[in-house]
Amino acid sequence: MADGLLQLQGVRKHFGGVFALRGVSLEVREGEILGLIGPNGSGKSTLINVAAGYHRLDAGRIRFGGADITDLPPHRRAKMGLARTYQYPRPFGSMNVRDNVAVGALFGRREDVGAPRVAQRSAGQWLELLGLEAAAEKAIGSLTLQERRLLELARVLASGPRIILADEALAGLTPSETERVMEAIRRIQAMGVALLVVEHNVKAISALADRVVVLHEGKVLAEGRPGEVLQHERVRAAYLGGHAGDA
Ligand code: ADP
Ligand code: MG
Repeated sequence: MADGLLQLQGVRKHFGGVFALRGVSLEVREGEILGLIGPNGSGKSTLINVAAGYHRLDAGRIRFGGADITDLPPHRRAKMGLARTYQYPRPFGSMNVRDNVAVGALFGRREDVGAPRVAQRSAGQWLELLGLEAAAEKAIGSLTLQERRLLELARVLASGPRIILADEALAGLTPSETERVMEAIRRIQAMGVALLVVEHNVKAISALADRVVVLHEGKVLAEGRPGEVLQHERVRAAYLGGHAGDA
């Protein structure tokens, strides 16, 4: 696990009597897309929350860029370049798209974005990269779900992350919208940013991810290249049996 950018080692987390993560070890490598799949309730969102620092662990360690971040609060992790998106993004409704991205830049890791005007300029660059430039002046309330998802990615990209943890970035999108957000994710990866992408759509994650980890009942059931993992008997039994049809 020496070259992992983000490493979870023996992570456990329970909520009352619910054991959401039962000793999970995994790593996201520099610049890769790791797909995280698994049935509902298997612990995917909890994993993102512990990695981002929103939950204290019961046991285990988390390392990022070689440093032990287990006890660091979310904002310290964000400053180090560990960013996350939300399944239900809540952008600032009183600002337009460009300004929402500029806010991401102002509170991020990039040293060169000190002033609001610089942040606004750099916001334009991220909107363009993700194909959102036409929506730059739009009010948040008028955005489609796809535009909200892209805005969420642009917002965290503006903060200069080394990794983005994306929870269900493709959920609820039509096939053509899914394609467009996947293309945005590929562009982010091409900049050298690693991504942990949680996704239900097995077809999409197979096309997108370099490697896949399957969670099941709070444990890693399988990991490896998408083609291999998804053929796995245990994975099919635990997961694809019920989902392959709608994926
Ligand atoms: P997934 O994202 O894979 O659907 P989650 O990580 O959201 O799964 O949930 C894993 C388990 O932990 C579920 O049983 C869920 O109900 C429980 N859980 C998650 N977050 C909380 C929380 N904040 N409080 C109580 N239970 C939670
Ligand atoms: Mg979830």
